[in-house]
Amino acid sequence: MTSVPNLRLNNGVNIPALGLGVFQTPPNETAAAVTEALRAGYRHIDTAAAYGNEREVGEAIRRSGIPRRDIFIETKIWIDDYGFNETLHGFDKSAGKLGVEQLDLLILHQALPSAFDKTLAAYRALERLLAEGKVRAIGVSNFMAEHIERLLAQTEIVPAVNQIEVHPYFQQAALQRLHGQHGILTQAWSPIGGITFYRGNGRSSLEDATILAIARAHGKSAAQVMLRWGLQQGRSVIPKSVRPARIAENLAVFDFELAPDEMAAIDELETGIRGGPEPDFITLDNFSRPIPEA
Ligand code: NDP
Repeated sequence: MTSVPNLRLNNGVNIPALGLGVFQTPPNETAAAVTEALRAGYRHIDTAAAYGNEREVGEAIRRSGIPRRDIFIETKIWIDDYGFNETLHGFDKSAGKLGVEQLDLLILHQALPSAFDKTLAAYRALERLLAEGKVRAIGVSNFMAEHIERLLAQTEIVPAVNQIEVHPYFQQAALQRLHGQHGILTQAWSPIGGITFYRGNGRSSLEDATILAIARAHGKSAAQVMLRWGLQQGRSVIPKSVRPARIAENLAVFDFELAPDEMAAIDELETGIRGGPEPDFITLDNFSRPIPEA
């Protein structure tokens, strides 16, 4: 069984460098995917209140028989639950569905640029949960540089992570440098470029000629090369799959190394085109999604 090395968060907590993502994993397929991942050696699952599958993630973790402390559980508060008391209750909903007392990492899913006070209040609730020991680390997702700057200026705890879109076609190098300056870990969503192909528009990073040539040279797949590139640059990566063969494939990335010229060739694939929604356009009006009680 593959064992995944840890990265250290800015508060000393360890996080496995590679975990399983479950965005768009239907609830009725989630327990099987998580079970398969845990069997293969994954020890970190990234879910979210808005994914509607926290309950099934929790079921698979319990059924695995693996001690709770050996599995890193990360989830996200959705924007409908922003505000101090609302976010405290959002924790109760997520922990209740997951069936755990404590979360390893709880993050805000998005900034709400048009209601940033609400975003700050939500983050202050995360700080409270951290102080109370209900979560081991806190962070954010999809924050742009100006959101990080405002958060740092107006709250106490530096986020442990910012989970953002990072794959060879959209790397956010300046934002990653800002993270580095503040000790914030960059956690890459769509680390194999899922967002470049699962919406059926645009060019798939899995079919990129440069990445495929590097993959052939190592006897690896394009997905494995992209994950290796992310890991070698110090990122946390959370590839998603519901297929056992791919879940195993995405974990088999600790037995080869990309050379500096290969890393540089992948860096050059930047297109500047964001796949996900423009973070500045996220509002409660167009992205509202009430989160059910536990
Ligand atoms: P990924 O880059 O992980 O790609 C996932 C897609 O690739 C799926 O369509 C999957 O299909 C397919 N796939 C997986 N492995 C392979 C492989 N080895 N070869 C070929 N195809 C493969 O994209 P995601 O957007 O899912 O990102 C990963 C995780 O990041 C999410 O699951 C979620 O946890 C998080 N995320 C967070 C966001 C945020 O706003 N904070 C936004 C988006 C994602 P199949 O399942 O059929 O194998």
